[in-house]
Amino acid sequence: MSAAQVSKAADPIAALAELVAFPTVSNRPVTDLAAWLAERAESAGMRVERFETSPGKCNVLASAGPQDSDGLLLSGHMDVVPVDGQDWSSDPFVLSEREGRLHGRGSCDMKAFLAAVTCALTELPLRRLDSRLMLAWTHDEEVGCHGSRALVDRLQEQGRDLPSLALIGEPTDFRIFRAHPGHTTMRIRCVGRPCHSARPELGVSAIEVAADVLAGLRRLQAQLALEKPALDPMVLGALAHPYPLINCGRIQGGTAVNILAEHCELLVGVRQLPGQEGEALVRRIAEAAAEAAEPWERQGARVEVQPMHEAPALLTPAGTDLERLLRPHASDPQPGAAPFATDGGNLARMGTRCLVFGAGSIDVAHRPDEYVPVEHLLRMTRMLPEIIRARCVTA
Ligand SMILES: [Zn+2]
Repeated sequence: MSAAQVSKAADPIAALAELVAFPTVSNRPVTDLAAWLAERAESAGMRVERFETSPGKCNVLASAGPQDSDGLLLSGHMDVVPVDGQDWSSDPFVLSEREGRLHGRGSCDMKAFLAAVTCALTELPLRRLDSRLMLAWTHDEEVGCHGSRALVDRLQEQGRDLPSLALIGEPTDFRIFRAHPGHTTMRIRCVGRPCHSARPELGVSAIEVAADVLAGLRRLQAQLALEKPALDPMVLGALAHPYPLINCGRIQGGTAVNILAEHCELLVGVRQLPGQEGEALVRRIAEAAAEAAEPWERQGARVEVQPMHEAPALLTPAGTDLERLLRPHASDPQPGAAPFATDGGNLARMGTRCLVFGAGSIDVAHRPDEYVPVEHLLRMTRMLPEIIRARCVTA
């Protein structure tokens, strides 16, 4: 590497600009960005594997250090949420620095972490580690943690393991989160009997059925908020909502204003707490929907609940070695709970204890003019080699 290449490799702002320029919205291919990350890891001296899930979709796993040793896993997702309909002040896929903030889609969620790790690699003796350092870059986290699920399935099939500790670099304003709810999604299909809207007694509107199903879900939500989940009180106290949240995020139905709709479909998510089964909550939602739709079913309507995906919740015990290493860098020494799901829920299936910690704020993620403060990005890039050395280099 020439001196110019070294300084470019170690400049996290330049790296973030390159990463933001890949428009890796979850419904689009991620392979170019994956190749970029793989190339950076390889040229830093890591062994890199690509796990293709489907055309255009792959996960990247990089490792350095003795294969049979424990160490540290750093993980982040490569996909970003869409920008459709959002009012941006500048091109979302061109990183723009204004008043100490780096704006761009994915700048904070979570390409800042990818940039910081990429640059931190150049500071480390990767060919002489005493313990294993691994990187897991995943696809489609934003739409249900699909990439990490596929990666974990594949590693389990191959009988492989991961380091016992993992840092998930999601934006947390440098707070340490050791727990978060999961997210379980389902499709609720309401089927009515179409007819002319001038003769409503001849049919059933699927939209009316769906309206009652939604009212039933609202009643279930109120009931869930009163239930006391069996969970570590510290974690429960740290959750913004100490009960599962239900949301209908999309509704689609009907064909014309003068027809009673035959179909109406709801996409519903429920955020199960650690220790709760997503499946059990899907069953309760199905019961609430069936009860709400019962009068319509007697008139020939039908309601079906089809489970889609489950991103598991996360609960890491307090006091891990990684928590100790992060604490001096944290904005709050007391670990808390994140309100959002991460790949950590799937990675924990490998027995890996995950903490969520990173630059930027989730409050500006997914929004127009998303940004990461320059100072946060630089701070993350500076602290990573120190944390990795403490875990992976005995000296
Ligand atoms: Zn994220």
